[in-house]
Amino acid sequence: MIKLRKVVTNLSRYIEQGQTIGIIGGGQLGQMLAFDAKQAGMKVIVLDPDASCPTGQVCDQQIVAAYDDIAAIERLADLADVLTYEFENVDLKALEDVADRVSIPQGTELLRITKNRLREKTFLKNHGLKVAPFSEVNSETDLQQALATIGYPSVLKTCQGGYDGKAQVVLHSEADLNKASELLTQGQCILEGWVAFDKECSVMVGRNLDGAVTVLPVSENIHRNQILHESIVPARIDSTLQELAQQMAIKIAHGLDLCGILGVEMFVGKDGNLYVNELAPRPHNSGHYSIEACDFSQFAIHNRAICNWPLPPVTLLKPVVMVNVLGQHLQPSRELIKQKPNWHFHDYGKKESRIDRKMGHITILTDDLEATLAEIKATKIWDKE
Ligand code: AMP
Repeated sequence: MIKLRKVVTNLSRYIEQGQTIGIIGGGQLGQMLAFDAKQAGMKVIVLDPDASCPTGQVCDQQIVAAYDDIAAIERLADLADVLTYEFENVDLKALEDVADRVSIPQGTELLRITKNRLREKTFLKNHGLKVAPFSEVNSETDLQQALATIGYPSVLKTCQGGYDGKAQVVLHSEADLNKASELLTQGQCILEGWVAFDKECSVMVGRNLDGAVTVLPVSENIHRNQILHESIVPARIDSTLQELAQQMAIKIAHGLDLCGILGVEMFVGKDGNLYVNELAPRPHNSGHYSIEACDFSQFAIHNRAICNWPLPPVTLLKPVVMVNVLGQHLQPSRELIKQKPNWHFHDYGKKESRIDRKMGHITILTDDLEATLAEIKATKIWDKE
C-alpha cells in the first residue's frame, strides 16, 4: 500500500487542551474553526496577509504575512503544536519544509490530490467511484480529441485555482469554442461530460490519525450563479441514496488516508446514480448547518481529528436550512434580525462587502421545511442576483 500521508513524522500525536493550533488562511472557515477551538481551550494562531481577516478577529494571535511567505510559515510552525489550513491553495513546498518542526496531521498528499482536478478525478475513478467522463486538455487539439469522445454538453475547467464556478466554461456547441480557447491560455484543463442531475448534495466526513471515521448527514445544495445559495438537511433524497452517499464519503476518506474533515460534493444523477464532483480537504460551506443542527459541528470534528481525539458519531438534532448571505444580501438580511428571533445570523466580520462575496450565513432549524423555504423566499432578499 502506498503511504499517502507523506509528511507525517513522529511529531504527529495527541494534542492537549491548552496547546496551540496554527491555521494557514484567515477567512470564515478559519474563524469558525477558531471559535470551536477556543471553546475547547486551545490557543489559535492564524497566518493571513489581511490584518483585519475574520479569523484574526477571534483568535489569540495573527501573523500578518502572505500564504507563501516561508519565513512566516516557519514562525507559525514554531509557535504551533499542530498545523492546519482552511483552503486548498496552500504552498505545498512550504508545508513540507516545516514538517520536521510541527505536527501536520493532514499531510501534504491530500492537498496534492485535491488541489488539481485531474489528479482528484483520477484518484476517484481509480477507487471505484462514479465521476463524469473526463479528459486532460492542454491544447486545442486535445480539446477536439476530448470532445470527440465526451461530446456536448460538457464543461471545461482549469485543473487548478477555480472555485464557485470560476475558471470554467460550459460548452453547448462549437459556438462556445472561442470561450474555451481563452480558458486554455490559463494552463492545464480538464474536460468533463455534463452530468444530467436532479440535485446536488454533499457529505462531510471526518477521520483521525488512528483511522476512526465519522460522517455527517447529507446536505442538499442549491446553487445560484454557481455559488452555494441554500443547504437543506436532511437532503430530500431517499434514505438508501443518503446512506450510499455517506458510504462513498467514508470510502474516499479511507482511500485518502484522511486526517481532518473533507467535503465530498456529489450529483444525484437523473439515472439514479451518485457522481462525485469535487473534494474539499477542509470545512465546507455546505457543512455550516452543523454548528446549530448537529451535536458536533464540522469544525469540532476537524479540530478533534487533527488533535487525534476520538471522534463521536454525529447526530442531526433537527432538520435545517442554511442560506448564504452574499454582499448584495448583507444590509437587508441585517434588518431581518428584528423580525426573526429564531434565525441564527452569522456575520464573518469582513471589512469589505462585494457582490457575490460570502459575508455571512443564516441557519434556521425547522419542523416544517417547506414553510421555512417559503419564509426565506417571502423576504425577497435572495431574489436579487
Ligand atoms: P465545480 O466548481 O466543479 O464545483 O462546479 C460548479 C458547479 O457547476 C457545480 O456545482 C454544478 O452545478 C456545475 N457543474 C460542474 N461540473 C459539472 C458537470 N460535469 N456536470 C453538471 N454540472 C456541473
